[in-house]
Amino acid sequence: MGTFDLTKYGIEVKEIHRNSSVPVLYELGLRLEEGTAISDVGALLVYSGEKTGRSPKDKRVVRHPDSEKNIDWGPINIGLDEHTYMVNRERALDYLNTRPRIYVVDAFAGWDPKYRLKVRIICTRAYHALFMQNMLIMPTAAELEQFGEPDYVIFNGGGFPANRYTSEMTSKTSVDVNLEAKEVVILGTQYAGEMKKGIFSIMNYLMPLEEVLPMHCSANVGEEGDVSILFGLSGTGKTTLSADPKRKLIGDDEHCWTDDGTFNIEGGCYAKAINLSEENEPDIYNAIRFGTVLENVVYDKKTRKVDYTDTSITQNTRASYPINFIDNVQIPCVAGHPENIIFLTCDAFGVLPPVSKLTPEQASYHFISGYTAKVAGTEMGITEPQATFSACFGAAFMMWHPNRYAELLAEKIKKHNATAWLVNTGWTGGAHGVGSRIKLKYTRAMIDAIHNGDFDNVSFVKDEEFGFMIPESCPNVPSEVLIPRNTWEDKEKYEQVKDKLVALFNENFKKFEKDVNGEIVDAGPKRSLSVES
Ligand code: ATP
Ligand code: MN
Repeated sequence: MGTFDLTKYGIEVKEIHRNSSVPVLYELGLRLEEGTAISDVGALLVYSGEKTGRSPKDKRVVRHPDSEKNIDWGPINIGLDEHTYMVNRERALDYLNTRPRIYVVDAFAGWDPKYRLKVRIICTRAYHALFMQNMLIMPTAAELEQFGEPDYVIFNGGGFPANRYTSEMTSKTSVDVNLEAKEVVILGTQYAGEMKKGIFSIMNYLMPLEEVLPMHCSANVGEEGDVSILFGLSGTGKTTLSADPKRKLIGDDEHCWTDDGTFNIEGGCYAKAINLSEENEPDIYNAIRFGTVLENVVYDKKTRKVDYTDTSITQNTRASYPINFIDNVQIPCVAGHPENIIFLTCDAFGVLPPVSKLTPEQASYHFISGYTAKVAGTEMGITEPQATFSACFGAAFMMWHPNRYAELLAEKIKKHNATAWLVNTGWTGGAHGVGSRIKLKYTRAMIDAIHNGDFDNVSFVKDEEFGFMIPESCPNVPSEVLIPRNTWEDKEKYEQVKDKLVALFNENFKKFEKDVNGEIVDAGPKRSLSVES
């Protein structure tokens, strides 16, 4: 049994497990947390309960004169008064005090020592502790000795609900960020991703204060030291495409771009497990082993073999593992300035080309737009895709106005002469319902082509409406796949759907027009004359 003094937080629990070894956390989880089991390959199978994804509507940011003017208040950053924060904090602490044992994870966020945060997670489940030990950068024994006071503390009382009658609480879930107290309080959700993305939100606030750009992107580096970053909303392929045996993985989700180059904020990866196969994603498949946390998957009761196709608990099944579970990694996870910036989108309309080259202005436009499309629910007959625009490809985690990040990106692209690309990992041959998702092997081949410089010497065609340049050939990809119009049987329908998507882009961008320079507005798509007449 471990001990560690948490009385300064008002936590009197005696049994404290701090930075425990993986087997100890396995044993505790298996003994004490319902449903926990070991998979046939040794991963820890865990269940997060009712919440199997983040709760963006329940995120709150404490209003304080010091940070108030910097925050982009609205439906993403919903304000919370100090008093209500203290009510929730007390509630979390009261809950922690009812527990027979507490887990503490003391670790770092950020591989660059210049910008790293010391983070303390205080939680009630071995699952949460192991998850964060996988996701953060774990201190060595010597570093832990020297750890001292953390910069930020997360009180995870997620096993207990918020009180809906507390003023400003609209549900029993609340994730409260307090930048001045340097704390996060979690109530009413046991989804582990809230802790990881809580830290990301904090970095998204702190880094621009130092002219550093925090980014919702994956990153890897080639043998020549050439860095690529891949932005994209959930499900567009950041994790899948960054695991590339030919390149060293820097990280799969959260990075920063400084004057010195890029660094990963995290020490681990958090991969989607839906339909995972050894054939399509061998690196991720083989990272699932002893030490990996496998969330909300369904398994065979006898063999403990996981059925990755089973989405009966959630579509959002996940695997969390330390980054060194991937074979080819860059450790420490720090590298130079990006040469290629890839915006991933999963266009379920099937209109955007699978690969295209952007001008710097187009890059700014698409970064601010943050487009992807979701396949609508499985209600009968409804196949119409749903467009999503999420600024900076991660509006849910941004704390400043999108322009703050967009300016930093534009400045860095210019200074370091990076090339921007748009890669559509979504539909081809028609919209969802008619066409199909582009083959992963084709997307990988296009990304290889970017890295190999294969597009330096090919001819491009300009997309009439979007204005970006589409390469006419790509090694290992049939050329007809490259021009979306050619993949659609019904050309008229293609023009119609494209026109609709252009209108959606224009509509979404209206709210940004007054704050960005005219060249960026002009870099957006335009409806073609033929359609307008
Ligand atoms: P999150 O931000 O939620 O972590 P992500 O951007 O990391 O999301 P991935 O975990 O990489 O997204 O998910 C992409 C999913 O799409 C994977 O399940 C992958 O197998 C699937 N997929 C299918 N076709 C493609 C393709 N052509 N390119 C990329 N991914 C594809
Ligand atoms: Mn991911």
